[in-house]
Amino acid sequence: MKVAIVAGTRPEVVKLAPVRAALAARQSFTPIWISTEQQAALNQQTLATMGIVPDLCLAPPGDAQSLGGRFAHVMGQLDLAFETICPDLVVVQGDTSSTAAGAMAAFARRIPVAHVEAGLRTFDLATPFPEEGWRCVVGQLAELHFAPTGAAAENLARNGVNSSRVHVTGNTGIDSVRLTAAGIAPEAATPGLRRILVTLHRRENWNEALDEVLAGLLDIRDRVRDVEIVFVAHANPALRRRVFGMLDGQERVRIVGPLEYPDFLALLKSSDLVMSDSGGVQEEAPVFGVPVLVLRDSTERMEAVTAGVARLVGVQRQSVQAAACQLLDDEQDRQRMARAVSPFGDGYASERIVEVIAARFANLLASRPAGLLNAG
Ligand code: UDP
Repeated sequence: MKVAIVAGTRPEVVKLAPVRAALAARQSFTPIWISTEQQAALNQQTLATMGIVPDLCLAPPGDAQSLGGRFAHVMGQLDLAFETICPDLVVVQGDTSSTAAGAMAAFARRIPVAHVEAGLRTFDLATPFPEEGWRCVVGQLAELHFAPTGAAAENLARNGVNSSRVHVTGNTGIDSVRLTAAGIAPEAATPGLRRILVTLHRRENWNEALDEVLAGLLDIRDRVRDVEIVFVAHANPALRRRVFGMLDGQERVRIVGPLEYPDFLALLKSSDLVMSDSGGVQEEAPVFGVPVLVLRDSTERMEAVTAGVARLVGVQRQSVQAAACQLLDDEQDRQRMARAVSPFGDGYASERIVEVIAARFANLLASRPAGLLNAG
């Protein structure tokens, strides 16, 4: 059975690599990795780290186009790819343009779609934009919905998705942490300093919010004398310019990155606190017992807040500063967060996903003679 895996950004690669490995471990599946090149540099860096050579790389969409123009480009290319490859199933992950374009191109060719990390919602189409819209579209088109948590499954029910199509599996990002982190030593601590790791890249935080957060970080540095701030910068040139403009050369502040995935996990492992707007980082930090302050006004991962591993602090200078200082001043509170149990699964989501796919396509698999199973 040919399973096309569509990915084009760093988080998609991190979260689909273990699904590909679980498919490849079974003789009856041929995973075919299609790289949309949506995020050129970060995508390639993560593919190399994960040891994945794509079976097909699409022509990159080009930054100059509008969001819709880039979407149309990716969808058109995927349509041609599906025509040539004739996959039996298309797997997409999360909520990027590649995710929605992959689901729509497959749907138009009547190819079943499986959605990994299904059911995340804020129920506000404007936040995050365009991700909330993309994942709602995929939620309507997919045949198999792999929800990371019970809360995500409930969101799908609220959207009218039949429960027989929804499978709670855990988050495949935790599988990648399990498979990668065991051999990783935490990055050495800077003597005498506690470490705050920061990432910030989401579209809604590109403007005033970025300045507010950066100012809040400097306030924290001034207020707490034994912290260092390690800002892991994104590849986006406009973001980098502003981050370097405000933080470069500041005492007890370092700018690093984008880091290779294992190096990022090593840094995460050695941090006392994470401040981030990243989805993946919110899921990974609790695995290492690192509390997360979410730099957003709303989150589609409320289960992390409910479980006590994360707090939603917004992007105002004052709220960012106050939330971090409170935790750094109150070690018992920080420890409570560090010890709380992650809601994102046990690191075996991919195996569950492949089990469900094998059961759903049992008739197809049975109908193909063994000798033909892995024929391209
Ligand atoms: N990550 C990485 N290197 C870095 C920063 C993050 O490999 O320098 C990984 C991180 O471990 C997580 C993923 O990138 O698995 C998160 O990606 P991102 O924050 O870009 O996207 P989001 O999760 O918000 O969709």
